[in-house]
Amino acid sequence: MITTQREIAAPARPAAADERVDLLGLSREQLAEVLAPLVDRPFRVEQIYRALYERAAGDLASLTELSKDLRLRLAERFRVGLPAVASRHLSEDGTCKVLFRLRDGATIEAVDIPDRGRRTFCISSQAGCALACTFCVTGYWGAGRNLTAGEIVGQVLAIRADRGLPMEGLNIVLMGMGEPLLNLDNVKAALDIFMEWISPHRITLSTVGILPGLEEMAGWERRPNLAVSLHAADDELRGRIMPINRTWPLADLMAALRRYPLEKGRKLTFEYILIRDVNDSDRDADRLSRLLSGLRAKVNLIPVNPDPVLGERMVPPSDERIAAFKDRLRQRGWIATVRRRRGDDVSAACGQLRAFGREARGFRGSAK
Ligand code: SAH
Repeated sequence: MITTQREIAAPARPAAADERVDLLGLSREQLAEVLAPLVDRPFRVEQIYRALYERAAGDLASLTELSKDLRLRLAERFRVGLPAVASRHLSEDGTCKVLFRLRDGATIEAVDIPDRGRRTFCISSQAGCALACTFCVTGYWGAGRNLTAGEIVGQVLAIRADRGLPMEGLNIVLMGMGEPLLNLDNVKAALDIFMEWISPHRITLSTVGILPGLEEMAGWERRPNLAVSLHAADDELRGRIMPINRTWPLADLMAALRRYPLEKGRKLTFEYILIRDVNDSDRDADRLSRLLSGLRAKVNLIPVNPDPVLGERMVPPSDERIAAFKDRLRQRGWIATVRRRRGDDVSAACGQLRAFGREARGFRGSAK
């Protein structure tokens, strides 16, 4: 049974009427700076920092560790911009897709995926995506805008607040809507906050491989796991299903990944969507194996999730073909796993996140 719970997103006040500064997404130093006129003692700043991120406090009035007077004065000038939950869709398997409505009306999705003792939040980095990969529903609906650091952090905080979950024990994957490396400053600010509570080993950034972004990440002090959406092992095919490949072809991408610093024990993850009769042959597996040679890598095979907007040919291979592709990679020495489908009864599966209420860009015309 699928339970769908719809709520009216709190309209709050119209954005223009609320000019208070949003505290969400600020680093400790930035917080100290904006709060300086009202809060000058570092331990108070620390209390507020922890209340925001560790406790996921949704408003300043709930910071009872501060005096009432200070809370009132803070609330006059500052706000906590947790995104409003517009709806939740709970899947049979426990996966919960949350639709958020942001202050300007943009909508984004995040997914809460419980898995035995573990729990993974899949969050968005942009409201929409300009990359137009042919298998991706977000791409079908077209470009949106970059999320602010507060909107990225806010997705995690809002789900946590909703479900009463601590930051500890979470895994976070930036595999929702958007391309994180095209919004790298805000993504980094959000990651820096997450990484205060969550080990970078439990955080994964997934990208199509935007080269300048990869170069920048290579210079970071602390890096999350890196997952690269490959999906094809030759330029002709990859260019057809992922237009970004025409800007940064495979040779350049692979060269950048060979330079990318990997700490001991870490591996790159390559995501490879399997699409029937498109990229699922033994030859494709052999090509993939050759492309990755010499890299410390594992392969995550994702049977494509069909969706009406993607057209009829975007379907996964048979189970036998999927197993054969995986086995072929394993025979060649690779760690290869097939991603389990989660939440597909509520369209929360990979690549099925969309911005509701938007006009499709229409370039795939009849597919709809
Ligand atoms: N832009 C980033 C992150 C968002 S997509 C990236 O491309 O990596 C997260 C993952 O979902 C990517 O591997 C993407 O290729 C995959 N995905 C997109 N559409 C899909 C679909 N219909 N079925 C299965 N996986 C899909």
